Amino acid sequence: MNISVLLPLVFGKSFDYRAPEGMDIKPGDYVRVPFGRKSVWGVAWGEASGEVEEKKIKSIEQVATHLPPMSKTMRTFIDWVAWYTLAPSGMVLKMALPVPAALESPKVRGEGRGARGKKITASSSTLDPRPSTLSSDQQSAATSLRTKLDTGFSVSVLDGVTGSGKTEVYFDVIAACLAQGKQALVLLPEIALSVQWLARFAEGFGFAPDIWHSGVSPARKRETWRKAAQGEAKVIVGARSALFLPFAQLGTIIVDEEHDASYKQEDGVIYHARDMAVARARHEKIPAILVSATPSLETEYNITHGRYARMHLPTRHNEAELPEIKLIDMRTQALPTGSWISEPLKAALLTAMAEGKQAMLFMNRRGYAPLMLCRACGHRFLCPHCAAYLVLHRGRARLLCHHCGYETSPPKACPQCKEEGKMIPFGPGVERVAEEARALLPDARIAVMTSDSTALGKGTRRSKEPAKGSGDDPAGEVSCSETGGSVPLEKLIKDMMAGNIDLLIGTQMIAKGHHFAGLALVGVLDADMGLAGGDLRAGERTYQLLHQLAGRAGREKTKGMAWLQTYMPEHPVMQALLAGQRDAFMALEAQMREDALMPPYGKLAAVIVGGKNERETAEFTRMLVREAHKEETGGKRLENNNLHSLISNPLILGPAPAPMPLLRGKYRYRILIKAAKDFGLQDWLTRWLADLKIPSSIRVKIDVEPYSFL
Ligand code: ADP
Ligand code: ZN
Repeated sequence: MNISVLLPLVFGKSFDYRAPEGMDIKPGDYVRVPFGRKSVWGVAWGEASGEVEEKKIKSIEQVATHLPPMSKTMRTFIDWVAWYTLAPSGMVLKMALPVPAALESPKVRGEGRGARGKKITASSSTLDPRPSTLSSDQQSAATSLRTKLDTGFSVSVLDGVTGSGKTEVYFDVIAACLAQGKQALVLLPEIALSVQWLARFAEGFGFAPDIWHSGVSPARKRETWRKAAQGEAKVIVGARSALFLPFAQLGTIIVDEEHDASYKQEDGVIYHARDMAVARARHEKIPAILVSATPSLETEYNITHGRYARMHLPTRHNEAELPEIKLIDMRTQALPTGSWISEPLKAALLTAMAEGKQAMLFMNRRGYAPLMLCRACGHRFLCPHCAAYLVLHRGRARLLCHHCGYETSPPKACPQCKEEGKMIPFGPGVERVAEEARALLPDARIAVMTSDSTALGKGTRRSKEPAKGSGDDPAGEVSCSETGGSVPLEKLIKDMMAGNIDLLIGTQMIAKGHHFAGLALVGVLDADMGLAGGDLRAGERTYQLLHQLAGRAGREKTKGMAWLQTYMPEHPVMQALLAGQRDAFMALEAQMREDALMPPYGKLAAVIVGGKNERETAEFTRMLVREAHKEETGGKRLENNNLHSLISNPLILGPAPAPMPLLRGKYRYRILIKAAKDFGLQDWLTRWLADLKIPSSIRVKIDVEPYSFL
């Protein structure tokens, strides 16, 4: 009997193999097969194609009999993700089989796990669970979420102000899910920053969840994968990649901070984990719960259209008040050179310190200065491989490219005019802000939190893709040590919790989910920074980030204050924050997107073409656009941005140099495809790209629903 096998390789199809005499193979079985000169683990996918000559068909070598087969649901989900993202299905399978060693039978590996489930792991410690008593608002949200556990697929949005107890509510739902004997998956944007979350979980449930993200060691991953597949892992908390684990009996998926940009994976298979979480829940016929204080416009759209249900938590727990927001109009502040903290903010910092309270300063730029400049000739230091300036990191005495990791020492003489001692740092980074703060508050205990200053830095988290538009510290899957948090970072967070730090200065890492009881003042030095650039979500994202930052302040007894330095105090984002008018702001954003037929009111895909040879890359991109115009029905070019013409035809914008035209030594061109909401974009893209011969010197990246406009 022959059967087709999907392999975790770059192919978009499965291959035929023979099941040898006596080996009973069913779809879903994990099998090891010869491929080229290697032996590869894959999954029996379905019927053989029958297109291969019998004598050329090779035999399956081994079946993993100790594991439950991959479910039909999971296989359908993988095929669906491949279709949706236009990634080869083998690459999607690879995300579900990230540690092939997990498939080898434990005896062969000599692992001796002992009796199944008896092994003492992190998840079977013996604390007494201490669930919280919910407030009445929390209780009613939890009750309606609990009922969803019995009604198949649904999407609920837990929409509550910062500190309202959203986490407590979904913990309650997880408890109900576990009581039904099912598994729960929780996605968090930055698991390495989630020390407090993990501690709260352990306290509430009496055991630690299993952790999954790119920094977990292969051995631990192998174990967690197996536990997921065999139903032993009750709760897995992870970064976006946890979405592809083969759960035996998944009961619910919770996406915390669902609006967070780091849910978009930009390398390899390009997908948005929130959207894929909803898709997985739909396939599994289980409830998905999206959690946020500032739901994304995509999610708001789905609520408005009746697809998602909203559960609301309008007030902070324990009568803690929401922070008071104040705008500092920087046009009226004459800052001396090399100074970034305005007088009013300085005064507020001094007061907070005098009163023994904690404060945070936010500046979304790593390093000391974003640019080095020669005062004699104006020379600026550029990365030799990217269209980007080198950033001065004074602590390390290096010039660094934040896009490709290139580094060099700052030279003594200017390479252009040869003058010595004329190089100056230009503009601020967190290191420089820390220098200013130390001069202002010589007695304060000041700490800096960025991916450089913590053990997360130094190459562990450099993504292959450029940093996200709005900030400098890329929101992304963070690597860290096995315990779920690198020691210095964990220590930093614990010191802040214990009140051993007076002032914490950092990039967007300080915005994420922390609960610091003594934190009274949050100062944002560059509130406008995210508003620049061509990102269609710039306004929305800036609102979300600033709201989340402000939400760190005054979470317990002390009244919180968030002071935002801005050159655009009239901007709708600033005004909405000031007035606490989230819904009005989002309605305005929605209107703008609808008028422009931009997502979520229309569909968008980006095609990025990259190559070492600029002319070849440009020519190939132009050829692609010509082919795209041929794909349009009727063959006529459409220039107008009109809903009716978009229904049957997408609008092809470009080619144009990508906003980041040179990255890692590759020239980049971009084509944007814009289409109506109900246009079959995936099928159109597939047709367009189907017969394409892509030279090996060229890379074509397709990004359905792009979030990064680099
Ligand atoms: P959110 O997720 O909405 O930001 P959290 O769940 O983190 O809010 O709650 C904020 C704080 O209030 C946390 O310290 C949490 O322990 C506390 N809290 C919230 N609800 C309760 C409750 N019902 N009982 C005890 N503490 C609670
Ligand atoms: Zn570079």
